[in-house]
Amino acid sequence: MTNHFSAILTACAGPVAIFTDFDGTLVEIAPRPDAIEVPDFLAGRLEALETALGGAFAIVTGRTIDNIDGFLSSHPFSVSGSHGAEQRHQGETRPASSGHATAAAKLSRILSDHFDGDERILVEPKPAGVAVHYRAAPERGGDVQAAMDHALKSATDFHAIGGKKVIEARPRGTDKGAAIATLMQNPPFRGRTPVFIGDDVTDEDGFRTVNAMDGVTVKVGPGPSAAKFRLPDIAAVYDLLETLAERTPEHGEDTRLKEARQ
Ligand SMILES: [Mg+2]
Repeated sequence: MTNHFSAILTACAGPVAIFTDFDGTLVEIAPRPDAIEVPDFLAGRLEALETALGGAFAIVTGRTIDNIDGFLSSHPFSVSGSHGAEQRHQGETRPASSGHATAAAKLSRILSDHFDGDERILVEPKPAGVAVHYRAAPERGGDVQAAMDHALKSATDFHAIGGKKVIEARPRGTDKGAAIATLMQNPPFRGRTPVFIGDDVTDEDGFRTVNAMDGVTVKVGPGPSAAKFRLPDIAAVYDLLETLAERTPEHGEDTRLKEARQ
């Protein structure tokens, strides 16, 4: 197998903006989304990366910003939450639109009522969508899809997308690719090479967008992907982020790279 770790580092030789998914990329997936274990070192390592990149780091996730803050409470990272329906950058938050919030609340009620009585199915309301998790009852995937399709008949602005034992409704036009493209229009991201690391189906929008920007795309784990590179697991992602934080020119230690760009 090609040594993707080295190839990724080579592709990241210039100034980069780093975007990472959260579940399955920075933390191991758990049976329920609130049951993940976040390593003690993670927040500090991400903060070091953010500093090394002059702020050009953001988490791009299906989770809400509030939810991410619950796990990484020590620092207000830039987050594109709910698949880009809400964004926070440099402490400034752009919330989900009120129209989407109202429609999402209605969808949540319909789906909560439908799965009332099966505690293995978790209906998670979001500011601009709703996720139905069935990891604890994988045999009910077909039921979840059918219930979601039915609920969406009353919310034509929304569409469903499947992930790892989760089906999620979100506003049309909202995806991780659009979220990254929006961030890339502004400093400190603008002018840098975008790098996106993710593991799931919803990350493919991000991979396609970043590929179109001549960026660097990294899929974590097995499975088909539009990403150019692959890393085997989350431990390799940690190694990559740490290496990038240490070698990034802004960090002031790698003069060789600076000279190479002059
Ligand atoms: Mg993921």
